[in-house]
Amino acid sequence: MAAADTPVLLLNAPLVASRLGYPDLSGLDLLEAFAFVHPARFCVPTPRGLAEALGLPQPEGDAGVPDLLQHAAGALIAVCRDPEWFEREGAWSALQSLERLRWPWAQVLKPHIAKPERAERWLFSRLPEWEEAGERPAPRAVELSSQAVAEQLARLTGEGAEQREGQRDYAQNAARVFAPRPREARPHLALAQAGTGIGKTLGYLAPASLWAEHSGGTVWVSTFTKNLQRQLRAESRRAWPAKRADGTPPVVVRKGRENYLCLLNLEDALQGGFAGRAAILAQLVARWGGYTRDGDMIGGDLPGWLGTLFRKRGIAALTDQRGECIYAGCPHYRKCFIERAARDSAQADLVIANHALVMVNAARARDPAARPTRLIFDEGHYVFDAADSTFAATLSGQEAIELRRWIIGPEREARGRRRGLAARLADVASYDEAGGEAIAAACKAGQLLPSDGWLQRLNENAPLGPVEALLAAVRTATYARDESGGIDAGYGIETEASGLPGEVIEAAGAAAEALASIRVPLIRLGGRLEAILADPPDWLDAQGRARIEGARFALAWRIDLVAAWESLLARLGGPADPEFVDWLAVDRSDAREFDVAIHRRWLDPMKPFARVVLEPAHGVLLTSATLTDRGAQSIGSEEVWASAIARSGAAHIEGAPLLSAAESPFDYATRAEVLIVTDVAKGDLPALAGAYARLIEASGGGVLGLFTAIRRLRSVHGRVADRLARAGLPVYAQHVDPIDTGTLVDIFRDDPRATLLGTDALRDGVDVPGHSLRCVVLEQVPWARPNILHKARRAAGGGSQYDDRIIRARLAQAFGRLIRSKDDAGHFVVLSPAFPSRLLSAFPAGTPVLRVTLDQALQRVAAGVGGMQSLPTQGALLP
Ligand code: SF4
Repeated sequence: MAAADTPVLLLNAPLVASRLGYPDLSGLDLLEAFAFVHPARFCVPTPRGLAEALGLPQPEGDAGVPDLLQHAAGALIAVCRDPEWFEREGAWSALQSLERLRWPWAQVLKPHIAKPERAERWLFSRLPEWEEAGERPAPRAVELSSQAVAEQLARLTGEGAEQREGQRDYAQNAARVFAPRPREARPHLALAQAGTGIGKTLGYLAPASLWAEHSGGTVWVSTFTKNLQRQLRAESRRAWPAKRADGTPPVVVRKGRENYLCLLNLEDALQGGFAGRAAILAQLVARWGGYTRDGDMIGGDLPGWLGTLFRKRGIAALTDQRGECIYAGCPHYRKCFIERAARDSAQADLVIANHALVMVNAARARDPAARPTRLIFDEGHYVFDAADSTFAATLSGQEAIELRRWIIGPEREARGRRRGLAARLADVASYDEAGGEAIAAACKAGQLLPSDGWLQRLNENAPLGPVEALLAAVRTATYARDESGGIDAGYGIETEASGLPGEVIEAAGAAAEALASIRVPLIRLGGRLEAILADPPDWLDAQGRARIEGARFALAWRIDLVAAWESLLARLGGPADPEFVDWLAVDRSDAREFDVAIHRRWLDPMKPFARVVLEPAHGVLLTSATLTDRGAQSIGSEEVWASAIARSGAAHIEGAPLLSAAESPFDYATRAEVLIVTDVAKGDLPALAGAYARLIEASGGGVLGLFTAIRRLRSVHGRVADRLARAGLPVYAQHVDPIDTGTLVDIFRDDPRATLLGTDALRDGVDVPGHSLRCVVLEQVPWARPNILHKARRAAGGGSQYDDRIIRARLAQAFGRLIRSKDDAGHFVVLSPAFPSRLLSAFPAGTPVLRVTLDQALQRVAAGVGGMQSLPTQGALLP
């Protein structure tokens, strides 16, 4: 009631609202003010984090928070008055617009921000232009001597001769992929297992930086998590300066284009494309646009919490999500962050990217010369999954409607600039008759694709057009054949794409014809664009040329997409192709349907990976702390590597991979303990929640709780969060708190009394060395979901042994969260009465493993790892 009557000072309104169960809480949110005053500056969105970011004393417990909020508001106002305010430029003008938008802070800040003497330049004229640089010559063939590698490593680590032996050997092994390759399509492929704490990042950056310096070439390092990208950016500073003498950056972080701010979309939003709260967000993003390092909105220097303060999908609408970029036709082309990143990376010594981007780039790079040839896949155990999604084909309602919008443009367009093919290529259509006809034909055929409201029509069994009719038949067949018995009601259902009813086959035939009628004019249009480029008319200036080249590229991958859909449909009803796994699915979340799809995956996605990524490369290193399968140790070293080799693509290229393993230097025997709790029955939710609550209390927070089902995560959170928060032990949760995952991890890292609950997949993104993470709790053994794809791979990969390998890898990765540095210590708890002994080898050799009751586990957790040596050993100590 107080908040509804008067604007109150708040910190993170959506989070406070969700805790109070009051959906529309608003007021003076200090995070919004922070984003205005210090755009592009890091701040953990908690009272502690805000105090830290503003240089204020930490609040004394919860009672000190109201005072802190007032002091924080005072500190932000004081910055606005400070003549030395670093981010002053643009603030006055932005505030004028924000006042018109009734931003609550505008009235508060206005008296403190002086009107500048000269009119401020707006963002789009302030941003620097990128320079076009000449093509980089091909790298010289160089051999790296072991001595040079050792010296470079010593220089980077600053440790001289006494550097760690494991790291020294690792660097020498990594250096082998930089040797000149013996034959075409025969890259050096190395698989390097590096236990936590080896120092693998500097271990491979040493030869990589040496090679880049002597050869003049570019090394790509690919990661799976954004966290490692951040870390790599920081570590690369030891080898490279921030800028070269000519001002260009030697190290560039490169992401998919959907991560960057699109200036044209922003301009559109600022000029009325966005309304209400979204328009305020656009103003704050524009403030950030003037100060950002590289325009990266997702995981870059835009605070991760900014988007969630505004709830709508505002951030996504400001990026180039749908490939509608008009390249040189865009007035901001010369300042565009995406274009800048692409140019910078072509000139860089080191490009930091992610697995998906590296694969997409290799598969359809605009410029084949810009494809990476020296590649390091860190977090290499994820290359298989990344390849699996990159080389997948999915014909779904959502994908098809995206294609329709790309061809025709949005149907009921009220605002914005989103336009279809005809508008984007209007000049081509008027100049070239055949090109104009192809565009018209594509737009006509595009009408056959699903349109707005398709899901509703499927529900009412009134589909429009051949593709919707196919989706309707797929939906009906999937429900008819669903065997789940409603156990997981609310989640997706699926069925094999074999023995399908006649309706699906017939509908697939009609849909394939419709797709062909779209693909043919698109190919014709591509041909016309090429002809125009080959024999350019007078009016085609360099900008126009770049735009047509961009359009041709965008066209080529849509043509590939439609062709992949057609081949997917052609296979329905025909004989199964053993190379692929095909299935039909209805995707649901919380009992709401959101897509209907036909999926195709490679049984072994490393086959296309080997062809597209490995063969054209000269040297590839796959490295990770969990590459090999520890469970197979007893069987022999070949078995240890079998799965890593199979999941690297090595089997599909010539030559054997170079294998190396470096054991972690950490003393797991005294720093960690695995507790398998045997008396929390599976399926007993109150007992599960009780166990979590007591473990969190015993450890005083600092718990990372991992769940295999969102339902149980929510249920446990709902039962324990309030009570624990009152005891000063805040519990944050993925899928519950309105906060992005990266920010949740930042909050967790920042507060040693906090607990973080997340899905099993969170095990990858959490790198929290030190006291903040001292206990990992798994709600059960993380078995794989037995879906159709899993069943097919399981059958091909050795049945239960395949499952065991996957579980051991998951356990090893989750355990790896616990001990990140030599001073870390903690417990790894699995709440599972039935934990098979054959999985225990997942943990590093020497780690004590005990089967105990919950009470015994609580005692050991409460005593801490330092104290646990003095406790008598309870339960059976396992080998
Ligand atoms: S060039 Fe493309 S991505 Fe860049 S600002 Fe313009 S439209 Fe957006």
